[in-house]
Amino acid sequence: MLTIDNLKVALDAESGIVRAIDGLALAIRRGETFALVGESGCGKSMTALALMRLLPDNGQVTSGRVMIDQTDVLELPEAQMRGVRGGRIGMIFQEPSTSLNPVMKVGQQIVEAIEAHTALRGDAARAKAIEWLRRVGIPEPERRIDDYPFRMSGGQKQRVMIAMTLASEPDYLVADEPTTALDVTIQKQILDLLKDLQREQGMGLLLITHDLAVVKGMAHRVALMYAGQIIEVAEADQFFAAPQHPYARALLKALPDAGRRSETLAAIPGTVPPLTMQFDGCRFAPRCPYALDYCHTTPPELTPLHGGQVRCLLLEPGGPGLVERVPLVI
Ligand code: SF4
Ligand code: MG
Repeated sequence: MLTIDNLKVALDAESGIVRAIDGLALAIRRGETFALVGESGCGKSMTALALMRLLPDNGQVTSGRVMIDQTDVLELPEAQMRGVRGGRIGMIFQEPSTSLNPVMKVGQQIVEAIEAHTALRGDAARAKAIEWLRRVGIPEPERRIDDYPFRMSGGQKQRVMIAMTLASEPDYLVADEPTTALDVTIQKQILDLLKDLQREQGMGLLLITHDLAVVKGMAHRVALMYAGQIIEVAEADQFFAAPQHPYARALLKALPDAGRRSETLAAIPGTVPPLTMQFDGCRFAPRCPYALDYCHTTPPELTPLHGGQVRCLLLEPGGPGLVERVPLVI
């Protein structure tokens, strides 16, 4: 189990202290795909960087724990953390070029990952690298293993990244917008590949994306973030069939038919508040069609609902529920 508990991350920015993540909790089981969804700047990528201990220099975890089984990875000495990174938790990014070394043959990069994290060496490691290239769908892997990254297309580079990351057999994989940079056909192929590998390897996959269309059909569970907090967690089927939080309802109403690329978040009027702000009430209140006066003064807690959790005052036990308000006619 990979567990994040009350995680808070602050960034020291020119505009002030940015509370990028404010009390995030989630648990990912091995063998499941857990999607972390939200618009850009909501804290999803920061969550991934915090758990990998790769925050930028101006960023700091100010509270919380990240546990793999019984180990708090935030407390490990950096030398041990290097073993965790790659060995127990792999990570792939949107832009494979940021992780592939341009002056090293792709095969050598995969071999290094294999030698660093498994017992295989030399020819055995090279054979394994070829096997991984084949598994991720690179044609003629015996030949392509000696290519440099620039000889490969964007989709192939992402496949190599996946091979390199999974070759060290991590228990968990963090994939941050793994297909956003790719065109739609390739995007689908890479997602199908990730889905197959997640199942075959029995990994826990943390899939980070702004695109709900990517999550549908791929994730077992979904957590939706807004302004540095999780505002809804649910089984994926439940989430897509009956979203609860007003923001989730609006997003899903705006979700185009399957197969089309979505920029759904722009469809909701208003913008995300800056995270330098202190919040008195619900962070979504300025955009929420259901907001009542007390929404602006009382911060909602994440509360159990229908087998999931939701952060909305009106949906708390004993709350009034969500009723679209109609203008009063006197
Ligand atoms: Fe909307 Fe109020 Fe619920 Fe926030 S607490 S989501 S403002 S109804
Ligand atoms: Mg991001």
